[in-house]
Amino acid sequence: SGQRGQKEFVGRPSEPVSWQEAAGWSRQRGGQAVGNPQQVAPQLKQGRSGQDPAASEMTGLQPFTHLLQTQYPRGSDWLNFGHVPIGYIRTGSIFLAQTQDRLISLKRINSRLNVIGIPSEIISPKKVAELHPLLNVHDLVGAMHVPEDAVVSSADVALALASAASQNGVQIYDRTSVLHVMVKKGQVTGVETDKGQIECQYFVNCAGQWAYELGLSNEEPVSIPLHACEHFYLLTRPLETPLQSNTPTVVDADGRIYIRNWQGGILSGGFEKNPKPIFTEGKNQLEIQNLQEDWDHFEPLLSSLLRRMPELETLEIMKLVNCPETFTPDMRCIMGESPAVQGYYVLVGMNSAGLSFGGGAGRYLAEWMVHGYPSESIWELDLKRFGALQSSRTFLRHRVMEVMPLLYDLKVPRWDFQTGRQLRTSPLYDRLDAQGARWMEKHGFERPKYFVPPDKGKKARSHVYSFVALRTNKTHF
Ligand SMILES: Cc1cc2nc3c(=O)[nH]c(=O)nc-3n(C[C@H](O)[C@H](O)[C@H](O)COP(=O)(O)OP(=O)(O)OC[C@H]3O[C@@H](n4cnc5c(N)ncnc54)[C@H](O)[C@@H]3O)c2cc1C
Repeated sequence: SGQRGQKEFVGRPSEPVSWQEAAGWSRQRGGQAVGNPQQVAPQLKQGRSGQDPAASEMTGLQPFTHLLQTQYPRGSDWLNFGHVPIGYIRTGSIFLAQTQDRLISLKRINSRLNVIGIPSEIISPKKVAELHPLLNVHDLVGAMHVPEDAVVSSADVALALASAASQNGVQIYDRTSVLHVMVKKGQVTGVETDKGQIECQYFVNCAGQWAYELGLSNEEPVSIPLHACEHFYLLTRPLETPLQSNTPTVVDADGRIYIRNWQGGILSGGFEKNPKPIFTEGKNQLEIQNLQEDWDHFEPLLSSLLRRMPELETLEIMKLVNCPETFTPDMRCIMGESPAVQGYYVLVGMNSAGLSFGGGAGRYLAEWMVHGYPSESIWELDLKRFGALQSSRTFLRHRVMEVMPLLYDLKVPRWDFQTGRQLRTSPLYDRLDAQGARWMEKHGFERPKYFVPPDKGKKARSHVYSFVALRTNKTHF
């Protein structure tokens, strides 16, 4: 992972900005850029980090748990990994619940984590206030605490992995671009780089958001459906009494934000309801990595942050970073061998959990390549679940706009994707629809999921998106 490859600001940091200015600017000045956008490497959460338990719960997929579980027992190994310090700090994390629905969801995640041996507990708002000095807890109904959660520096992890690999005989070609993969009779034979050719039998496309284009650059194209959205996070100057480095990371999914300590101040980003897919056509990697700030767009998350931490009003904002992140059509990562080209493997589309799941995903892909199959059933992550249908840019842009908010949405019964629908319908579609069919999508095909008799009226047509309503039997069914 080299996406956020620098540890410090490069060049001149932006002028400090106050919260009032930021909010005011976003309203009055149409969200013009403040300062110059530059890359930083936030210390990303690792292991059982902020986003991953939520992600695994929302998808309800066993494979995600496998990916986490594989990485978990290795957490302490990271401390001495390859003798390169990786900024491992055990902070713990707190997942807040503003509603009963969210609390039920957290209780489910909590029991799942405990089953796979990750300690966590449901705590009261009072306990939340004890764990984090700056949090406003008045609107909370509870929270989940994962005490052994940790943060690491993503750039240092990449360096540690590279250094360990090179100690074990791996040759690394820095600043070298793969132009395309050479294929003969449906089998990988080598890669063409900007510095020459390398012969090989196996190739792994792990080019992050560039994997889509790289897959299509072969004579025998490999479809890898993923697309990046702009992802914003804010950095502040240190607090007057700087936050302790082990202050817990906070995920306020109802407020759509995450918050963590960053050099004594705050790093806070989120997954907004209306994400912006990025348009990469005609742009080089540097342009894509240095996207513009957008204060207007960030305003709802900023308000959410100020509600959760009112004391921040007086703190200087240092920068709003816009850093793209990649999503897949079903919010699951993509791995395995291409059905079109033998020896062409992929490991991409981490849906904002690349550090959490990287260790597990890497291990399973290695097994896949060596033995022909992974040691756990992770077929739901197999590249073969997609076809050319899901590789259209238009489909992907619409779908990732739905997927990114899902990271913090409650995934409740009877839920289905709304975008990219009706791509394939049977001749019976209209007749079944008239008879009250409710539809689900499978590989582009619309399938009736269940029927609501037409005489049940309009009420029955609205889905009930609530665990509490279901439990108390207040559904329309
Ligand atoms: C702000 C932010 C916060 C995040 N927080 C978390 C978190 O708390 N926990 C978590 O688990 N995840 C988090 N993530 C997500 C995580 O950072 C990503 O999922 C992860 O970096 C993806 O890793 P990757 O290796 O798939 O892709 P990348 O990191 O994008 O790496 C792809 C690499 O391929 C290289 N490349 C591309 N094309 C070519 C080519 N043709 N030839 C050679 N090289 C090429 C690129 O230069 C790049 O170095 C966060 C992401 C963001 C943006």
